[in-house]
Amino acid sequence: MRYFPLFLDLRDRLVVVVGGGSVAERKALLLADSGARIRLVAPTLTAALAARVDGTRIEHRAHDFIDADIDGARLVIAATDSRATNRAVARAANERGIVVNVVDDLELSSGILPAIVDRSPLVIAISTQGTAPALARLVRERIEAALDESIGRLAAFCESWRSRIKAALPELGARRRFYDWLLHGAAAALVRESRAADAGRVVAAALVKGPAATAGSVVLVGAGPGDPGLLTLHALRALQGADVVLHDRLVSAEILKLARREAELIEVGKGGRGHRVTQEHIHELMVEHALRGRRVVRLKGGDPFVFGRGGEELEHLVRHGIAFEVVPGVTAALACAAYAGVPLTHREHSGSIRFATAHCRESLEATDWRGLARGRETLAVYMGVATLDTLRQELIRHGRDPATPIAFIENGSRPEQRVIVGTLADAVTLAARHRLASPALLIVGEVAALAVQLHWYGAAPLGGRELDVRSVA
Ligand code: SAH
Repeated sequence: MRYFPLFLDLRDRLVVVVGGGSVAERKALLLADSGARIRLVAPTLTAALAARVDGTRIEHRAHDFIDADIDGARLVIAATDSRATNRAVARAANERGIVVNVVDDLELSSGILPAIVDRSPLVIAISTQGTAPALARLVRERIEAALDESIGRLAAFCESWRSRIKAALPELGARRRFYDWLLHGAAAALVRESRAADAGRVVAAALVKGPAATAGSVVLVGAGPGDPGLLTLHALRALQGADVVLHDRLVSAEILKLARREAELIEVGKGGRGHRVTQEHIHELMVEHALRGRRVVRLKGGDPFVFGRGGEELEHLVRHGIAFEVVPGVTAALACAAYAGVPLTHREHSGSIRFATAHCRESLEATDWRGLARGRETLAVYMGVATLDTLRQELIRHGRDPATPIAFIENGSRPEQRVIVGTLADAVTLAARHRLASPALLIVGEVAALAVQLHWYGAAPLGGRELDVRSVA
């Protein structure tokens, strides 16, 4: 390790930034955030910098650099585009024993500035020791993605309890075990859920009685429609912290790969090949694993609250007193529409959207057909392939124009995605001709025809000849 990492307390200390351009501006404003007094040395400043000069926290010496400018400084940054000036700054700083960073010039620098992930009070500094700043930025992006905002709150929470914990647990080993519990257990979850007062009560109780055996919990996570890029950051973090993942069959292999390596993956897809897992059995599995103290991720395709029975699963957890969180996912209708180039609303064609399911006879009988058939509304039908003929007949019988454009999106957002466009009248024929397979979503409405023009992902839409595309485009 050539450069030694160190966090400097710069509050009310003088930092001199030589240079007045955009690079100097970035550095100076970042340093000002840490509470340092900033002295800018440059004949002219950017407008944004000039606006911040107040003569006390940020002062400006409007001349070319002279050695005396850095007297009394804790840190010096040279950010001019003249190497001669930068060299003069570096020499003056070295003579005085002040750490100097010359932007983009390792040779002249005695210190380098890391890339920063700021979740104050937690701060992560990343450096490649000057060898590949772009790599440091890449690592930074990954860390940014892996740490949510709540980690800063958690650090602040720990800080607020530090002295009490130290007093209650003077022995280092016991204190470590307590922090282990604090960071992984119920208290941390409560801080994440913005319930700091409840977290405080849990910690207070644990300090008296000792931490309870860490209770397990369930995170109900929406995995989106298939493309791993559509996972939320919360979903990713839940997967990376999981002991067990109970996943639907619909969840793609690429997404399962993102789970913690040690996590046990259990497929609980209903109606899968051969083995069927009933909803009751899923309920039992969640409770059983959570009661063993494990972090359970219940991973569902799309969004857990859209035709996903997520509500029933939570009701069951409530009955057993098991803590849970819910992470929404991108539901199939939104993802399929986006990846097929079908804007769900459009000022000229559609003013509202309806998500419906048509997966069985009962759901069809209970359907509000008149509502579904309304014009100028986009209808997204989940699980509709098997009951397509009834759907088509009823929509038309209740007044929807047989010439209404439709789009089927099969395997939406996955590499094998297919989009088939046509008219409501031809829906059944089209599905049969192209051997439409599950999972597929049906979009009914004028906007469906726009896929012909606006598609961008995967193969071009099939069909579409029947549509008078110009009339909707
Ligand atoms: N909770 C899920 C829906 C579960 S119902 C969600 O929010 O998306 C299952 C139905 O969703 C499938 O029959 C199909 O109609 C639709 N679906 C899910 N993933 C899909 C995909 N990648 N492409 C097309 N349709 C999909």
